[in-house]
Amino acid sequence: MTDQPRHVVAVVGGAVSGAEATDTLVSRGIHVVVFEQNPRPYGKIQDGLPKWHDKQRRQEYAKIDAKLDRPGVTFVPSTVLGKDLDFADLVRNWGFSAVLLANGSWKDRSSGIDGADEMLGRGFLFQNPFIYWFNHHEEKGYDGPRYDAADGALVLGGGLASIDVCKVLMLETVAAKLRERGIHVDVVEMEHKGLADDLAAHGVKFEELGLRGCTLLYRRTIGEMPVAAARDDSEAEKVRAAGVRRKLLDLSCSKFLFRVREHTVGKRLVTTDGRVTGLEVARTEYQGRKLVEVAGSTEVLPTRLVVSSIGSIPEPIPGIPMDGEFYRYDDWNIGKMTGYDGVYALGNVITGKGNIAVSRKHGKFIAEHVMASYLGVAAEGEKVDALAAASERISDARREQAGRVAAEVGAKPPVGAEALARIRAKVAERHRALGYTSYRAWIDAVTPADMR
Ligand SMILES: Cc1cc2nc3c(=O)[nH]c(=O)nc-3n(C[C@H](O)[C@H](O)[C@H](O)COP(=O)(O)OP(=O)(O)OC[C@H]3O[C@@H](n4cnc5c(N)ncnc54)[C@H](O)[C@@H]3O)c2cc1C
Repeated sequence: MTDQPRHVVAVVGGAVSGAEATDTLVSRGIHVVVFEQNPRPYGKIQDGLPKWHDKQRRQEYAKIDAKLDRPGVTFVPSTVLGKDLDFADLVRNWGFSAVLLANGSWKDRSSGIDGADEMLGRGFLFQNPFIYWFNHHEEKGYDGPRYDAADGALVLGGGLASIDVCKVLMLETVAAKLRERGIHVDVVEMEHKGLADDLAAHGVKFEELGLRGCTLLYRRTIGEMPVAAARDDSEAEKVRAAGVRRKLLDLSCSKFLFRVREHTVGKRLVTTDGRVTGLEVARTEYQGRKLVEVAGSTEVLPTRLVVSSIGSIPEPIPGIPMDGEFYRYDDWNIGKMTGYDGVYALGNVITGKGNIAVSRKHGKFIAEHVMASYLGVAAEGEKVDALAAASERISDARREQAGRVAAEVGAKPPVGAEALARIRAKVAERHRALGYTSYRAWIDAVTPADMR
């Protein structure tokens, strides 16, 4: 960071959307300080995307590295906004030109199941920690919580991530049974082959293993599962999308041997001696267009494990205004946060779409918008048309809340020498405390040998 006045932007979260925004800003001569809570900046790519996406993971790691390990970027790892950094202090006192929040959605949405919170870790789990465990538990030096991927688990969900949870449960339970028979398998290879085919290759029938397998519970019909999007609101498109979803589920179930039960909602955990032994469920039906529970339809499904996979929402951070489960924005279209000038959100934290390409595009879009409309550094003709871009990037639920697109075209003065010196000193202090010298040296040091 030089002494010459220039724009300096703080980006919180160095993964897909944060790295993309950083790259976009740096390409325009803006200096970016990236604050990342973890030692490594890969976010959901490392901890959310199941580890069988091994090739894609490596490619995404390399893309993030290339965007963060370049002149104009100062990386500050192992620094948590809300703990090591105070949000209001960062925004008001550090002196950054703008603050971009690319911190993703890491909080599991509440399951709505009676008694679930008390049973956490005792037969009830959320998707995010469960996938984290799956991705890391075989690494040397893993010291996080250990979970039992119990047979006969029930998964509450309906989206793509909940299908991944079912696949993890099937792969782990089958691998454990095969180990008992002296057959050692790699779950990543099993996933690549498909569980059914892998078992066949070992000359083993699933029925011989004595497993029940897991079941995905979804409150609507399989044709409505949010695993594939409809392209428009027409009836024909609805029918097409429903067919795609049914096909996708059929394929997943036949390859990975789990079941799906539609029109079913979880109501209450049943426990014995402080552990989950069942889930009370009810049937649902449509009355007209309204989905209702069928009176008298409750029953208890015996199970030792219930995993809730019904969506991820942003983690509340002290100082960040909330609007229910989400952060509060003056304008959802451009992620402009309420109550703070120059604070914008990007990627998964605001789009709600669990998708790498969408997060990347959104990161670029917001960075371009901030440069054009807030910092005033974009060339004439480059002003981003937020309104046109919004419909593609903002989910339907959010679109309803989207306010008027801000029309401001700012031209913020660059950060002066005093503020630059302050930012530099604060960052240097953090780097000293961490023993950080350079991006490459740091990443090499914090990447365990078995993860290289
Ligand atoms: C089970 C599962 C399966 C998926 N499968 C696919 C798939 O097949 N294809 C696909 O395209 N997408 C998939 N996704 C989604 C995809 O991984 C994400 O949408 C995308 O990676 C999000 O990128 P992001 O940068 O917006 O957020 P994140 O990756 O969540 O990045 C946020 C970053 O901010 C950091 N951070 C968070 N809080 C703080 C804080 N307080 N202070 C400092 N730093 C912080 C985090 O450590 C992280 O590095 C899947 C997700 C899950 C959970």
